[in-house]
Amino acid sequence: MIWSPDYETLDAPALARVQGERLGRLVDVLYRRVPFYRKKMEKAAVGPQDIQGIGDIQRLPFTTKDEMRDVYPYGLLAVDLRDIVEIHTSSGTTGKPVVDAYTAADIDIWSEAMARTLSSGGTTRHDIVQNAYGYGLFTGGLGVHYGARRIGATVIPISGGNTKRQLAVLRDFKSTILTCTPSYSLFLAEAAQEDGLDLGGLGLKAGFFGAEPWSESMRTEIEGKLKLLSIDIYGLTEIIGPGVAMECECHEGMHVNEDHFFPEVIDPATGAVLPDGQKGELVITTLTKDGTPVLRYRTRDITYLDHRPCACGRTTVRMHRVLGRTDDMLIIRGVNVFPSQIEEVILGVEGVEPHYQLVVDRREQLDELEVQVEMNDAVFSDEIRNLEQVERKIEAELYAALNIHTRVRLVEPRTIARSEGKARRIIDKRTLEEAHG
Ligand SMILES: [Zn+2]
Repeated sequence: MIWSPDYETLDAPALARVQGERLGRLVDVLYRRVPFYRKKMEKAAVGPQDIQGIGDIQRLPFTTKDEMRDVYPYGLLAVDLRDIVEIHTSSGTTGKPVVDAYTAADIDIWSEAMARTLSSGGTTRHDIVQNAYGYGLFTGGLGVHYGARRIGATVIPISGGNTKRQLAVLRDFKSTILTCTPSYSLFLAEAAQEDGLDLGGLGLKAGFFGAEPWSESMRTEIEGKLKLLSIDIYGLTEIIGPGVAMECECHEGMHVNEDHFFPEVIDPATGAVLPDGQKGELVITTLTKDGTPVLRYRTRDITYLDHRPCACGRTTVRMHRVLGRTDDMLIIRGVNVFPSQIEEVILGVEGVEPHYQLVVDRREQLDELEVQVEMNDAVFSDEIRNLEQVERKIEAELYAALNIHTRVRLVEPRTIARSEGKARRIIDKRTLEEAHG
């Protein structure tokens, strides 16, 4: 179901015209009203007069998360504060939060983008939406709420947590749509099973899962346990919250609402814009936001774009499910490798633990990747010959997944350092040597 065929099925020239006009207006506003952006444009020797079409976006400077934090709290405002009707922020766990301030028109765009999102999984005014995303400064709860209201569905604003109550509401109110993080949906399924409740038999039609990365194997598990259509959704507070992109029923990438949020994929090292199919960092410009518009925001999320037509009828560009973060990307012999890809292979191998470390080195001008994986106690007590078999097997599976040769080394149980925060998975000896050279 397509909520806004007028925009979601536009042909390429018409869409580019809309985007070009909107970009022109945006740059004009930013130049006149936001000193932060005016300075950046002056430094890049570009101004409103240089923007004739959407193609000219490449002349404009990027915006980083750090820059947005530096002007906390109101440095990105492009309107008078009295025109702001709602404020959300990012979590701010690693520094000052990023502030997203919405005008009434921005809330309208957000509602529209989320109505498109929920429609893409078949939500209608006859549905009961159990919204288990957190309400509050976090954008997930209210984003879904506004979209469901726009469609005319019934919203149950249950927010996150309180699993017993979630299950009771699912059963008693006969919710047909579930919105939460993918991992929480599996937690709900597990809790239901313990209570002897058959989640799959309750009448859930679709689930909209986002706010954290998930894989195809997780989809299989979710759809098997909850018996619903699962839809991956993408968004971020720096842009608007959820509503930036969503899958359709074809499950072949997420359609970007590109009449509002213009996506580009760049080489994170050089900033050069990459063609379709080539992996790089996702950059987004808010074409229509009034309160805190953002120019070419570097998301640090790795993906690639696909402009080919989709069987669902939408003509909007699709972005692949997020593959990783630029902070984690490794380049081995010219191939981009993400720890998440290696992790997925390792998790599928019997006899090893989900603890691993990647050591990159350069020998005779060639990059080498060694994958150290912890074996479990059972394998450890086995014959050495078997260990070699396991190592060769993982190497073969990694080659099939990544198309590069790696060396796998099994290490004894409990020898890879554990971390309470973000695990340190990568030791890159190449950069260490360069730094010392
Ligand atoms: Zn589609």
